[in-house]
Amino acid sequence: MFPHRSAFLAPLAALLGACGGTAPPPPTQTAAQEPAPTPLMKADAEWKTALTPEQYFVLRQKGTERAGTGKYDKHLEPGTYVCAGCGHELFVSDSKFDAGCGWPSFSSPATPAGVKENPDASHGMVRTEVTCAKCGGHLGHVFDDGPAPTGLRYCINSAALGFKPKSSK
Ligand code: FE
Repeated sequence: MFPHRSAFLAPLAALLGACGGTAPPPPTQTAAQEPAPTPLMKADAEWKTALTPEQYFVLRQKGTERAGTGKYDKHLEPGTYVCAGCGHELFVSDSKFDAGCGWPSFSSPATPAGVKENPDASHGMVRTEVTCAKCGGHLGHVFDDGPAPTGLRYCINSAALGFKPKSSK
């Protein structure tokens, strides 16, 4: 644990909260339609070696990148967003929209079983955390101020994502 983590995260958390997120929705994913992915377990030291420092901070330490700094914030290319930790498919570009908050935003996950949603009461806020269903990596949070038809906004860190262009699939 980094000694300055709390001090570093507090203003970021405040920014995230100011991004329009109010009370989070209750978890809506039931994963009833498809099997959950086989969990990928790695020791912390392995993650540290495999990931960049920023990826490790977000995915394994539940960090938040600074608003507007992520490479996928304004990214509009058609394709699939995968977990930067394990390659699991998380979101498709069809569900991506510009929420104007500085983080990539999606109205739904690629598949209901692709992500997990967990209550998060850290940093003085009540939010719903979103994690990768395969490796457990922290992705971001989901808020109930997204566009129709879901009304959800999956606010995801670019550092937690990789991208596969549609043409390469
Ligand atoms: Fe993952």
